[in-house]
Amino acid sequence: MIRHRPASVTLADLEALDRDDPLRTLRDAFMLPDGVVYLDGVSLGALPRETPTRLHEVAARQWGQDLIRSWTVHDWIGAPQRVGDKIARLIGAGRGEVVVSDSTSVNLFKLLAAACRLRPDRSLILSEPGNFPNDLYVAQGFQGLSDGRIGLRLVSADQIEAAIDEHVAVVLLTHVHYKSAAVHDMARITARAHAQGALALWDLSHSAGAVPVNLNAAQADFAVGCGYKYLNGGPGAPAYLFVAQRHQATTASPITGWLGHARPFDFIDDYTPAPGIGRFLAGSHPILGITALEVGVDLMLRADPQCRVDKSRALSELFVALVESRCAGQGLELASPRSPEARGCHVALRHAQAYAVMQALIVRGVIGDFRAPDAMRFGFAPLYNRYADSWHAVETLRDVLHTAAWDRPEFKQRQAVT
Ligand SMILES: *Cc1c(COP(=O)(O)O)cnc(C)c1O
Repeated sequence: MIRHRPASVTLADLEALDRDDPLRTLRDAFMLPDGVVYLDGVSLGALPRETPTRLHEVAARQWGQDLIRSWTVHDWIGAPQRVGDKIARLIGAGRGEVVVSDSTSVNLFKLLAAACRLRPDRSLILSEPGNFPNDLYVAQGFQGLSDGRIGLRLVSADQIEAAIDEHVAVVLLTHVHYKSAAVHDMARITARAHAQGALALWDLSHSAGAVPVNLNAAQADFAVGCGYKYLNGGPGAPAYLFVAQRHQATTASPITGWLGHARPFDFIDDYTPAPGIGRFLAGSHPILGITALEVGVDLMLRADPQCRVDKSRALSELFVALVESRCAGQGLELASPRSPEARGCHVALRHAQAYAVMQALIVRGVIGDFRAPDAMRFGFAPLYNRYADSWHAVETLRDVLHTAAWDRPEFKQRQAVT
């Protein structure tokens, strides 16, 4: 995979880049353990320093002292919309188009159902093989519930546009691929879907806070996304969903819970959906989870968007160039697009012993992750990763491969979570 001449860059050069980094102060806003090069924000974002304090405050003061009154006096009830409006600014959505709720999986189910109901005369969900399996599983579950009315069709990424025809109700794609980090052209695919009368539902789990996203410029219909990756909302953080303003009055959630009701506290027997995006809420939302998510989103909003994008591209590009020059001949293969513009914030490398190699890296303090069957992922979070991290990661990778340090039985024992 040698494409470049050995990079002449030195560690000192990279440390100088880190000192001049306009986002440098944001790294200090995160708690990262000494001696760890954390390259797994693609799976679980780091902990903002402020999060434990905020959680303590909300638990001890709001919950502990103000008790049930907090739903009103601390606006717990408005939290999904308030934080949704903040996330909207990261993904090119307007106020009232995004709400924090449930998990990405549940939101996906709700929006797939909403989209298919908008196109009752159409019978297909179109996606790609190798999409994040979870999303395909959710589509299969919805398909099962439709008693055969709805089918799921998978075609490879380069065939998607051609496959959108008059049978397709909704195109379901992950904007940045979870494994390869390949980016779909959201505006183009959405335009093609609309030209054929279909709708577009985008999973932004690896996009928000990572790459430029402009849902409204792309005329996207629906989107979902995850709170615990680049948004740093903490393990199992609540997710979010987007429904374009133009669809809100005519769509409905299949989970008609009371918090999506127009007047939940009237306690009447019949369901009437709330007028706006609130109709996609279901049950009571996790206040502690949203509290932690809001800290992460506020931090992300502090970073200049162009600086963020430029930095994450520079970091991942540096990593790829260093791997090409320092680890040539070690059986690695780039499993991500070579051009930084064509990929998200992470880089996937294939290796026959990818799992064991990653375990050996983790033991040495370089934390990425493994995705079956043979890929290592290295994520570059612009808020807290440093240029020097790429250097240390590649030097450690080189050492692990050169010395075959991965070749130990304990590194080949698969854990429950990879
Ligand atoms: C991480 C991720 C999810 C997360 O789904 P959960 O419901 O939070 O487990 C969904 N879709 C994609 C593409 C992801 O990468």
